[in-house]
Amino acid sequence: MFAGMETTGPLPAHVHTLVVGAGFAGLCMAIKMQEAGEPDFLVVERGDDVGGTWRDNTYPGAACDVPSQLYSFSFAPNPLWSRSFSAQWEIQDYIRRVAEGSGVLDRFRFRTALEEARWDDDAEVWRIHTSRGGLTSDVLVSAAGALSDPKLPDIDGIDSFQGEVFHSAQWRHDYDLTGERVAVIGTGASAIQIVPEIVDEVAHLDVYQRTAPYVIPRRDRPYTKVEKLAFKHLPFVHKAYRTGIYWGREMLVPAFVLDPRLAAPAKKAAQLNIEKAIEDPQLRDKVTPTFEIGCKRILISNDWYPALTHEHVDLVTDRISKVTAGAVVTRDGTEREVDVLIMATGFHATDLPIARQIHGRGGVRLAEHFAEVGMQAYKGATVHGFPNLFFIVGPNTGLGHSSMVFMIESQVAYAVDALQAMRSSGVAAVEPDPEVQRRWNDDLQRRMRRTVWTTGGCSSWYLDPHGRNVTLWPRTTYTFRRLTSRFDTENYQATRKATA
Ligand code: NAP
Repeated sequence: MFAGMETTGPLPAHVHTLVVGAGFAGLCMAIKMQEAGEPDFLVVERGDDVGGTWRDNTYPGAACDVPSQLYSFSFAPNPLWSRSFSAQWEIQDYIRRVAEGSGVLDRFRFRTALEEARWDDDAEVWRIHTSRGGLTSDVLVSAAGALSDPKLPDIDGIDSFQGEVFHSAQWRHDYDLTGERVAVIGTGASAIQIVPEIVDEVAHLDVYQRTAPYVIPRRDRPYTKVEKLAFKHLPFVHKAYRTGIYWGREMLVPAFVLDPRLAAPAKKAAQLNIEKAIEDPQLRDKVTPTFEIGCKRILISNDWYPALTHEHVDLVTDRISKVTAGAVVTRDGTEREVDVLIMATGFHATDLPIARQIHGRGGVRLAEHFAEVGMQAYKGATVHGFPNLFFIVGPNTGLGHSSMVFMIESQVAYAVDALQAMRSSGVAAVEPDPEVQRRWNDDLQRRMRRTVWTTGGCSSWYLDPHGRNVTLWPRTTYTFRRLTSRFDTENYQATRKATA
């Protein structure tokens, strides 16, 4: 927690708008509500700091794979970025500075976890229980993120393991890996950053790979003194960088949603990345992906493949059958002794944990509603049957190619416009028309059919257990911004405030 902040002040009995989560999304929501003159809002956060995923993911090597000029708020440019792809600490530092400079922190309550939110249809309020007491709110905004709850693999015997076990998002900085026999499970975005960082410390490293990812070179470099001076004194230079990166990323969309052959240069780059680092033909085979590029997140690294070539590193591709007190056993019967198990196994992305805590009209639990109809919302923001609930980073708003911060700003603008529209028209509660919501999602799923996420021959966290892509946005971020530029009251059912 950073100093000088009132973090655990009392909760009011009632607040107009309650925001859950203090990452990029919750902070943006708070800043934009303040700018819009919203008088009564509060942000609750289960952790003890702002930052969300950037506060939690402190594993060695944690860094962003979207250039920081774009992976930052448009309204808070940071001339201090030290390099093109910033490290976790630099992003966390940025989020803190923006939070402190924005004057909204007195509205934040840290160490306050949402336990339950129940819509009361008679009173038209959310009845909220938190770890620090109850309150009611007219509007509930979930800014809890899609990659906030670590997913642990369901491996036989894992509870019997006598060594250390931890998830990449809950890194044990108090545990020294020096000289240890370590197993990393997973080869996703987190694992490929961790392995090169710890490889020289450990005595032995087993990397358990279920699916080989595409890994292209990381074109990262420190900014020069001249660039830094220009960012500081010539704001248009900063803006030009951001704009260039933005449109460069937007141009990648057709390769994901129309024809993966357009990603041939990236596929070639991934292949050369392997050939440059790995000589052993067997290891080359093991790391060569067997699905279409883009189907899973395309990863960027210059040191992942070199790390795998160390003498004391084994890339294990046999499936894990169980874990014993001191070893990982694969299906071929091989037992590999280890002291530490690091789970780089991702997050609960298609089964949002917060949905278990939210009950809409008639007491329906959002998680059960999603289980029945699939995780879906209207414009990624609102759900029929759950009045006055707004998601930031809701269903189908994730990206495979660009900055989530851009999407967050679009969704925040939409939610703030909704608050203003409700206030000016005397509306007490809004929820999307069910037919409009159905059409929106039918259109999304129709577009999904031809995307590489569906046709690319992989399984990924983008898809729910029914194979529906419920996480990603299948169009440009520019289109999303246009579609969320105004709160479209006409597509909502509204109840007016009772007049005395
Ligand atoms: P992830 O991409 O979901 O990767 C999880 C890895 O664990 C995969 O390799 C998966 O294999 C493997 N796995 C899961 N269960 C397993 C099991 N039972 N046995 C063996 N292997 C298992 O998770 P992540 O790496 O934490 O990344 C999640 C997301 O966070 C990323 O896609 C990205 O959006 C974000 N992220 C971003 C950055 C960044 O630079 N901006 C960095 C880290 C994370 P399969 O592939 O076979 O499922």
